Amino acid sequence: MANARIELKPGEILFEAGDPPSTAFLVEAGEVLVYVRGPDGIVELARLGRGDLLGEMAVLDRAPRTASARALCDCVLMPIDAAQLRERLDDADPIVRALLRSQLQRYRGALGVLGGSPETDPDGAQRSIAPTSPIGVDAAAIDKIRLETQLREALARGELEVRYQPLLEIGSARIAGYEALVRWQHPTRGPVSPAEFIRLAEETSLIVPVGYHVFRQVASSLAALRAHGRQALPFIAVNVSARQLEEARFLDEVVALAEAAGAPLSALKIEITESLTLDLDRVAALIAQAHALGMTVALDDFGTGFSNLGHLHRLHFDTVKLDQGFVRQMLEHPRVHAIVQAITRLVGALDADLVAEGVETAAQLEALAAIGCRYAQGWLVGKPLDRAAMLAQQLGS
Ligand code: C2E
Ligand code: CA
Ligand code: CA
Repeated sequence: MANARIELKPGEILFEAGDPPSTAFLVEAGEVLVYVRGPDGIVELARLGRGDLLGEMAVLDRAPRTASARALCDCVLMPIDAAQLRERLDDADPIVRALLRSQLQRYRGALGVLGGSPETDPDGAQRSIAPTSPIGVDAAAIDKIRLETQLREALARGELEVRYQPLLEIGSARIAGYEALVRWQHPTRGPVSPAEFIRLAEETSLIVPVGYHVFRQVASSLAALRAHGRQALPFIAVNVSARQLEEARFLDEVVALAEAAGAPLSALKIEITESLTLDLDRVAALIAQAHALGMTVALDDFGTGFSNLGHLHRLHFDTVKLDQGFVRQMLEHPRVHAIVQAITRLVGALDADLVAEGVETAAQLEALAAIGCRYAQGWLVGKPLDRAAMLAQQLGS
């Protein structure tokens, strides 16, 4: 019954101000007038035709209708189930919900002025024009808007720091490189995890300047090592999100930043996490361009979610990073151990190096060495170091 069409004759009323919210309607044919009754008569709000939606406001904020609607000619309407609309809204970004709510409140306020305040309503009926129940908007949405603004300011003020987590070459027992991990020292909240703010930055294009900031810091650290006489530089891997790769000038920008700092491109490694949003052809082209420039490329978090073996043969990664989850379980579960062993062989056959992430115990490192995994990263090897500590580790060795 919910989606049966409704036919109206000219002049017939679809709903009236004060009616409870039930369904929204899609105009399939004809023309519908939406209006409010003001102190000086009817105020027309809109004339809606085929393809227009109406009655959705009351459904979205669950408040009584604040306007009336009637057919201007023969009309056909399709009711849209309230739950169907609300489900989409519940899935939407909280900021989008907050924007919608604020617009709805303002619109209802304006309608209240046009149609007279509830006290002077000619019917004497109490009609609340404020939404009775917000559309699931909560303090979290406002927090998110605030955090995003603060992140923008933090970037401008240089409050985003880069930490360097060492990678051990297991066979030679030396630190071969680092992974650059961004940190935000929030003035009141303290350190904010990148797990929280990177996702936020990825939702907007803010990740693009944040990413260039990280490259600039890394290039400057490499240049500092060189200035202190280090010839054989460690590599430094920089995490790059899918949104950053969409920038047509991404690699040009990285090259410009490295050149400006005086850092060799050969010491830069780009870390990409495979995700549904990545375009295979684009990544293949990016890897080829990075190689032509002398950079290397790593596939991050291998074995989680979207890692697709079908893609591996087309993407010539230099390094594959095995997700922490495998290392965590490999000693307790023989089947996980067998998978790590098989991945080590697979990655070796593709001429890439394997990095095991999240190595926390000597027993894990031993097991990885026995399997033939080349690099290890994790608390056992070292926690992320600030720039001064990283330079000291390199220059002292
Ligand atoms: P990721 O690339 O997988 O980075 C590894 C994360 O695991 C880091 O967390 C690191 O501190 C943590 N970790 C390293 N060793 C161990 C260990 O032994 N045990 C445990 N339990 N954890 C370990 P972090 O720094 O919080 O970074 C989280 C994620 O944020 C990173 O995951 C990466 O996806 C993203 N990220 C960090 N920096 C950047 C950046 O500059 N740009 C972009 N686009 N993403 C970044
Ligand atoms: Ca990474
Ligand atoms: Ca990782």
